[in-house]
Amino acid sequence: KVVDANPAARTMLESNLSELEEHLKHTYSHWYALVLMGKRTNFAIQFKDRFFNADLFPITNKRMEPVGSVTLLKDITMLEEQRLLLTERAEKDGLTGLYNRQTFIERVEVELACATEASHLLYFDIDHFKKINDTYGHRAGDLVLSELGALLTRWTEPKSITGRFGGEEFAVFTSSIDTKQARLRAEEFRKLVAQHLFVHEELELHVTISMGLASARTESFDQLYRLADTLLYQAKDEGRNRLCSGQDAGQSLQ
Ligand code: GH3
Ligand code: MG
Ligand code: MG
Repeated sequence: KVVDANPAARTMLESNLSELEEHLKHTYSHWYALVLMGKRTNFAIQFKDRFFNADLFPITNKRMEPVGSVTLLKDITMLEEQRLLLTERAEKDGLTGLYNRQTFIERVEVELACATEASHLLYFDIDHFKKINDTYGHRAGDLVLSELGALLTRWTEPKSITGRFGGEEFAVFTSSIDTKQARLRAEEFRKLVAQHLFVHEELELHVTISMGLASARTESFDQLYRLADTLLYQAKDEGRNRLCSGQDAGQSLQ
């Protein structure tokens, strides 16, 4: 039972005691167990879109049995919002909003550890991108990168993991489709990019991409990556604007 709350708590929580009690009962039922433990504890709670740090001090009777608690609440919403923003900045590439290389690999490794079917890594690189920078300037190059990132985000299924792997290199990981479907989807994206008009100020630009698609039943990101990288360079060698796909030797993934 919530017996009392001081005016500051009532203002901060924007609620009356019974509303607060109801919320605690439903969302923080472990609070009761914490009170019974009779120990000072610290935990986080969320209430009406705000984040709080709760410091629980036990109240004991003469026999030192816990009979209640006083909880100090500190509104840490601003800190929490800053933390989320910093996490986002640390994990994502500012230009495209996709995962950066390190986070991409970390997320993929988590997926690989529990994948039971074939996994696919699509790795692609913009063709002759240096020419776009050299001819139209770095800003035009940046526009192409961010728009390509947006195209990729719209195109990928929600279960896929997408990342900007390096300067003009992107990667998509998926394990929810079979090898044939992965190939068809990759080919579809290649065509989508080739047909897309990238508009920067008065300029209308076309770009193409070369892609390597590696499929394997593996737990190793490096294994998938090495194969995708080799396939991407094969696509470049064979004339660019194409997809080369393959599966790890010894694996039968059809
Ligand atoms: P290829 O078809 O063989 O891939 O040729 P390429 O010109 O695309 O490849 P290269 O590796 O020679 O050039 C990549 C260029 O990408 C060079 C670099 O300046 C540019 N680049 C990398 N990161 C960025 C970026 O964030 N913004 C812009 N505008 N350019 C970038
Ligand atoms: Mg390139
Ligand atoms: Mg490159």
